[in-house]
Amino acid sequence: MNDKKTYGFTTTILHSDRQKGIEHGSLHKPIHTSVTFGYEDARQLAEVFQGKQPGYRYGRQGNPTVAALEDKITKMEDGKSTICFATGMAAIGAIVQGLLREGDHVVSSAFLFGNTNSLWMTVGAQGAKVSMVDATDVKNVEAAITANTRLVFVETIANPRTQVADLKRIGELCRERGILYVVDNTMTSPYLFRPKTVGAGLVVNSLTKSIGGHGNALGGALTDTGEFDWTRYPHIAENYKKNPAPQWGMAQIRAKALRDFGGSLGPEAAHHIAVGAETIALRQERECKNALALAQMLQADERVAAVYYPGLESHPQHALSKALFRSFGSLMSFELKDGIDCFDYLNRLRLAIPTSNLGDTRTLVIPVAHTIFYEMGAERRASMGIAESLIRVSVGLEDTDDLVADFRQALDA
Ligand SMILES: *Cc1c(COP(=O)(O)O)cnc(C)c1O
Repeated sequence: MNDKKTYGFTTTILHSDRQKGIEHGSLHKPIHTSVTFGYEDARQLAEVFQGKQPGYRYGRQGNPTVAALEDKITKMEDGKSTICFATGMAAIGAIVQGLLREGDHVVSSAFLFGNTNSLWMTVGAQGAKVSMVDATDVKNVEAAITANTRLVFVETIANPRTQVADLKRIGELCRERGILYVVDNTMTSPYLFRPKTVGAGLVVNSLTKSIGGHGNALGGALTDTGEFDWTRYPHIAENYKKNPAPQWGMAQIRAKALRDFGGSLGPEAAHHIAVGAETIALRQERECKNALALAQMLQADERVAAVYYPGLESHPQHALSKALFRSFGSLMSFELKDGIDCFDYLNRLRLAIPTSNLGDTRTLVIPVAHTIFYEMGAERRASMGIAESLIRVSVGLEDTDDLVADFRQALDA
């Protein structure tokens, strides 16, 4: 496996652990639970601490099982390096902790995962400014940029209303201005889309969702694609400039965010996620097929007021999605007509399970305004296009006919 040939997406994932040598013939990377890593020679320990030779020291900063997953995700994103975190939010938080300072400015899509929205409020209160814009049009991003703008942050397909950011043009704008472009790829996953292809410098993935894929482990990752020139970033401390320039950003994030804030991924979770990742292509093919069938059935039903899914031709960014993504993802949402109570509807579903989380093997549904977006209040929800009756669906792997029939019988009942 050390040859130079480039393999397909799944082949590469399946064989990535073997590239650095297999331990004891174990085809899965073993779960290393040791918190600390010792050396016979105390001088070697010092050299590892000083970064003069590679090696592990203390589990918060690195672990062999986690490092194997980091390599796998780097390959999935066709990037240069990856740092894993305990959750997706810890990965996004690491961008704030590692890169932002008082007086900095961030331009962010207004259509965001709820907790990222909440995080930007915290950042705003702590002295950096965040402008929230409709990122489906690059003009809004451009208008918000100031001399202090350090990064632009967008999601690919926004959760839950499925707006698709103007990904390519925002990438061109960021490159022109020398601004770091961060793309949260969770909703597409590296199988459907690689943000590197539109110029993203950093890619966020919540590993909890499609990559782990089985709802049994939390995790997050930041991948450096190599597209951003870190010599243009003003806050890299001298200490991290000892590395070659392409590594500056990740060196600072690993020390200032992962090490100092400690949101490290555990080795057991890394193992679950690595096993889950092996089948992501197969799962996504099935989920996308199911999601399209479900969206088409709901759109054709007169009891449904609106359906949001990028795979529908009626979706405002359908053409853009088709051009950029391999398929349209497993996230969709819909509104029922007045007079149908969304709670009654959800309670009639037999297969789809009312709960949060996304990218599970099972289909999950949630009344957005009453749960995950409750805390932000009606005004902010309205500005994000979220109706009080909106139901989000994370489409799973069930047999297509069973799934479509379940959503239909709940309308009929
Ligand atoms: C779930 C999610 C996150 C956060 O990930 P956790 O692993 O739950 O912390 C971030 N961004 C998006 C788009 C998500 O769906």
